Amino acid sequence: MAVWTIVVAAGSGERFGGSKQLMPLGATRVIDLALAAARSVSDRVVVVVPPGVDWGLGAAIVVAGGATRSASVRAGLAAVPDDAEVVLVHDAARPLAAVDVFERVIDAVRSGADGAVPALPIADTVKQVRDGVVVATLPRDDLVTVQTPQAFRAAVLRAAHAAAPEGTDDAAVVEAAGGTVVVVTGAADNFKITTPADLQRAVALLATRGAAR
Ligand code: C5P
Repeated sequence: MAVWTIVVAAGSGERFGGSKQLMPLGATRVIDLALAAARSVSDRVVVVVPPGVDWGLGAAIVVAGGATRSASVRAGLAAVPDDAEVVLVHDAARPLAAVDVFERVIDAVRSGADGAVPALPIADTVKQVRDGVVVATLPRDDLVTVQTPQAFRAAVLRAAHAAAPEGTDDAAVVEAAGGTVVVVTGAADNFKITTPADLQRAVALLATRGAAR
């Protein structure tokens, strides 16, 4: 089954205060690490970047993104050929996604799921709040947090995005279109770099990995 991965990197990094994708990480940059893992499991990789930039991304197919994450995914999907069977979507802002996480989501789709996402259980109690007042305590055992890479049958992902819906991830778009999305085990290291403190955490983790070698 031909596997293509779309790495979305067209965000403005507002909460970070700049282009977090280009920040140094180990001997390279955040985006290069995210790409390296994607390349190792994919036939081809499409990288979605802000319009008009040249980030020196080597062999990847580079396309310009849109105003929202979902629009950027659609820009990437337009560059994926019809013979792709499995399409992964990965946030460039998750540079420490290990290859085994990619493999787990691909395997789940190969085994028949419409989509597969890496998930982690929630350690804290989760409450729904309105205007500063708790309105409900949610049953934690039913809840997970989900990450990228997320894998989908190509036709399912294309159909789910056809009417240009918005979602904070692609699983939400596929769920809304009636697709079945399964969860596989995620990884604590596979956090999204959102703030400068997250980047410091990633730098420290990589240094530990290097020292352990
Ligand atoms: O904004 P959020 O943290 O959810 O972004 C997740 C990923 O989506 C990031 O890698 C970001 O660069 C990408 N993104 C994008 N185009 C946008 C907004 C976000 O490619 N318009």
